[in-house]
Order: sequence, then C-alpha cells, then structure tokens
Amino acid sequence: MGRVSEKVILVTGGARGMGAAHARLLVAEGAKVVITDILDNEGATFAAELGPSAMYVHQDVAQPEEWCQAIAAVESKFGALHGLVNNAGIASMAPIELFPLEQWEKTLAVNLTGVFLGMQTALPAMRRAGGGSIVNISSVEGLRGSAGLHAYVASKFGVRGITKSAALEAAASGVRINSIHPGFINTRMTENIDLSSFPIPLGRPAEPQEVSQAVLFLLSDESSYFTGSEIVVDGGLTIGVPQKCQAVENIF
Ligand code: NAP
Repeated sequence: MGRVSEKVILVTGGARGMGAAHARLLVAEGAKVVITDILDNEGATFAAELGPSAMYVHQDVAQPEEWCQAIAAVESKFGALHGLVNNAGIASMAPIELFPLEQWEKTLAVNLTGVFLGMQTALPAMRRAGGGSIVNISSVEGLRGSAGLHAYVASKFGVRGITKSAALEAAASGVRINSIHPGFINTRMTENIDLSSFPIPLGRPAEPQEVSQAVLFLLSDESSYFTGSEIVVDGGLTIGVPQKCQAVENIF
C-alpha cells in the first residue's frame, strides 16, 4: 500500500520541474495523477512515461473555463478528485520603477488567480468525493521581501493568505488546505540565478524531490490535523545568516 493509494490528485504545471517530481512520487505512492500544463508535448510524454496511473490534460491555470475542463476530465477518467497541487508558477525580475505592468498582471494571473480558481473549482469536486487536501505552492518569497521580485513576492504572499482564508471555509467539509514555501530549488526557474547570493545554512540548493516529500505528506492521511499551515522547505534560508560562533564573555 502506498501512502496515497486510491487518491486521485491533480498537479498543475506538472510537465517539468517540481510539478513533475511531485507527480512521479505520488504515482509511486499509489495515486492516480492528472498532470496539467501549457507545455503539451512535454506533459503528454511525461504522463505516458508514468504509465496508466497518470494522464495529461492541457490547462492554463489563469483561465477559468480550463479549470472546469480539467476537473471534468479528472472525474471522467478516474471518478473523483481527492487532491490538488496548485504548483504552476512564473517569475520575472526588474526594479520597481521599471517593472512592466503587463508582467505584473501576468504573474498575478498565473501565480495567484490560478490558485484562487483552482480552489474555487476543486472544492465542489472534493466535497463530492467526501473530502480532500489542497496544497498551494507559495515560496520563501511569500514570507519575506526580495528586491526585484515584486510581482512574484506579491503573488506568493497572496497564496499564503488565501490558503488560510480558504482553509477556514473548507474545514467543515473535510477539505484541508496548506501552503508549502520552497527555498532555492534546482529547476529551470532558478537556472540563471546566482546561487552565491543565497546564504543557505544547509549549504546547497534542494532537488525538486526534496520538496515532493512535503507535498506527499500533506496529500496523505498522515497530515490529517494540518490545515491552514505553512511548511517551509528551504534548507534554513529564512531563519537567518549562517555563521560560526565564538565564545565571548560579557558582550552586553
Ligand atoms: P518550472 O520548472 O518553471 O515549472 C513550472 C511549470 O508551470 C512549467 O511547466 C511552466 O510552463 C508551467 N506554467 C507556466 N505558466 C502556466 C500556466 N499559466 N498554466 C499552467 N502551467 C503553467 O518551475 P518550478 O521551479 O518547478 O516551480 C514550481 C512552483 O514552485 C512555482 O509555483 C514556483 O513559483 C514555485 N517555487 C519555485 C522555487 C524554485 O527555486 N524553483 C522556489 C520557490 C517556489 P512554462 O515553462 O511554459 O512557463
């Protein structure tokens, strides 16, 4: 028996990066997984590689009607929806005075409105299934400021907040909603970022699979008393600057 056997789970932005790692682990732990993305070739190829427990569906998370189509496809293929990973996301960087409005609006549409639409559309399906678990992927940038990442920071703080407001409403129908806050993870999103400016106490970035362990936990019944909570997976990045300590008497 896997840790999510018999659960049907939708993972957005699952064609590559962290979403693909989540989908792979969930299938290995017994789930039926529907991967959605806008990268159709990569998504379909990846779902075929995972076998009959996986299916690919095209979905732009910023489009309400594509959410309806995706949830309908899940219920039609696998009969129910028990889990949702709101993973799809984009990022761009510019000084605030130069930040293009179009980029601001697009980032909020994908990263925040996409999560809002996902919860709005998935909740009725999860109620039909008798309960479920929604995992919203925020970021350490949903916990702190980060120069240049204005739209991304706004969207990820928003995801953190709406996770809690939605969790309050969903609890009565047996649906738990939590957020995950990854730090520096090795995916295409971070391949052009200078790692040396990140003082990570554990001394390295993470591989996507290390975040998948938290996703799996929140989707499994092992997390039955978690809702509205935040799991930070950042190698200690947000707890402070790593440094050696010397013994000094009477410093105050
Ligand atoms: P990634 O490798 O770029 O994967 C994201 C996937 O989402 C891509 O396949 C992307 O397609 C897809 N996508 C983009 N816009 C979409 C849309 N409108 N509808 C559906 N799918 C869409 O990124 P990642 O690093 O795995 O990030 C996954 C999540 O973790 C994101 O929410 C990200 O903000 C968050 N996160 C990442 C890090 C990190 O260090 N990597 C840290 C904290 C949080 P395209 O390639 O065409 O855009």
